[in-house]
Amino acid sequence: MVKETKFYDILGVKPGCIPDDLKKAYRKLALKYHPDKNPNEGEKFKQISHAYEVLSDPEKKRIYDQGGEQALKEGGVGASSFSSPMDFFDMFFGDSRRHKRERRGKDVVHQMSVSLEEVYKGAVRKLALQKNVICDKCEGRGGKKGAVEQCLTCRGTGMQVQIQQLGLGMIQQIQTVCSDCRGQGERINPKDRCKQCQGKKVVRERKILEVHVDKGMIDGQKIVFNGEGDQEPDLEPGDIIIVLDEKDHPIFKRSGGDLIVRQEIQLVEALCGFQKIIRTLDDRDLVITAIPGEVTKHGDVKCILNEGMPQYKNPFEKGRLIVQFVVIFPNQIAPEIIPTLENCLPPRPEIMIPDQAEECTLLPFDLEQESRRRVHKNAYEEDGDMGGPGQRVQCAAN
Ligand SMILES: [Zn+2]
Ligand SMILES: [Zn+2]
Repeated sequence: MVKETKFYDILGVKPGCIPDDLKKAYRKLALKYHPDKNPNEGEKFKQISHAYEVLSDPEKKRIYDQGGEQALKEGGVGASSFSSPMDFFDMFFGDSRRHKRERRGKDVVHQMSVSLEEVYKGAVRKLALQKNVICDKCEGRGGKKGAVEQCLTCRGTGMQVQIQQLGLGMIQQIQTVCSDCRGQGERINPKDRCKQCQGKKVVRERKILEVHVDKGMIDGQKIVFNGEGDQEPDLEPGDIIIVLDEKDHPIFKRSGGDLIVRQEIQLVEALCGFQKIIRTLDDRDLVITAIPGEVTKHGDVKCILNEGMPQYKNPFEKGRLIVQFVVIFPNQIAPEIIPTLENCLPPRPEIMIPDQAEECTLLPFDLEQESRRRVHKNAYEEDGDMGGPGQRVQCAAN
């Protein structure tokens, strides 16, 4: 049991989830609340970043799980020791080239949902997006040739210096972005301004990207389109980075290179053998057989080699298809056939009932519902601070 769940709640995950789930949760939320897409959610973006920064670091996570935010602060991990959310985001998504080249535009990250079939079979997806391109009419000058003049207000520096008298002999210099040219350092006479881009030098354009989803690609994998980011005069464009978001499949669950499938069988099939068809993600039919005499128990697990996920860059090699058997028991059996049935089954053990034994009634019990109720109750007690420190240590043994 962890002391607080705030950071987990921010990321929408449960304490005890695997690092991959944490990573996926951060990825999804960070892309959703990134200031480029959601300019009013700066605070949320920051919280997501801080929560993941703590939970993705084993040592910080341990301190947080045991003692909550307070323990982090006492351990020197206060608000000031967090990375800037933007830097953290760039580190997570960006590629390393960004730091080597100075005059380069921003990378743009897009998330793309893919089905399990698509990463199994491979797919080409078309993605439409808007991007800035250099205006072809004025070739990025913003106006006629020679129409661009140095801004007189800031003499081309883009900055204005204001001097303020603070008191006797004390002055303060304040540097601000030039209001006349908005920091560009140049101006274009309105009558010479390019009609196509209104002097902005770039225009919005719809662009279709062909995204090749290769066999065996994984959730979170990046596909980079070099130099396809927004264009800007005198700046090398950044990249467009597509991050794959693998959707859950109703039948198959992916586990690394393996696929897991649940196979329901009737009790008669469990006892007397069966044949079943499993339809693969590329629509082939696999026949599985248990020969008569072979009993399949509820919860038994078997596997088929080379029917799992194809390996990335080596798609003829595949993982395993893991089959989990679920035996469907009949809800009731007609009493008159029970003697016949008993004759067919291994004999039941004989039971001696002691004289003083007490007769009890069995009631239905829902284990899942019960554990949900317990979690709820614990959360309530901790809120009300009824547990006391001793009890918490006990809970933390999880
Ligand atoms: Zn133009
Ligand atoms: Zn200016």
